[in-house]
Amino acid sequence: MRRGILAMGAWAFAGRRPKGSVVHYWAAPSVSPLHLAYILGHEVGHVSGKQLRSRRNAWREELRADEYGAAAYLSLKHVLAVAGKAGAA
Ligand SMILES: [Zn+2]
Repeated sequence: MRRGILAMGAWAFAGRRPKGSVVHYWAAPSVSPLHLAYILGHEVGHVSGKQLRSRRNAWREELRADEYGAAAYLSLKHVLAVAGKAGAA
C-alpha cells in the first residue's frame, strides 16, 4: 500500500467528527497541484452532503465524491489559466 501511495504522489482520507469533518492528507513535493486538488476535492465530497455508502452501492459514494474532485480539479485549472494570463502564475 505504501508503494502505491508514493507512486500516486498524494493520498488523503476524510472523517466526520462530532464538531466537524476533517481531511487528512499527504502530498509529495513533486505532486501536480491539479492532482492534489482532485484528491482533496474527492475527500471533501465524502464529508459533504448525503453519503451513498452501503453494502450494495459503495461505488456510488466513490462516484459522488469524484464529482467534487472533478469540480476542484476544473476550478483550479481555470484559476491557474486566468492567473497565467494575468501574469500572476
Ligand atoms: Zn473515496
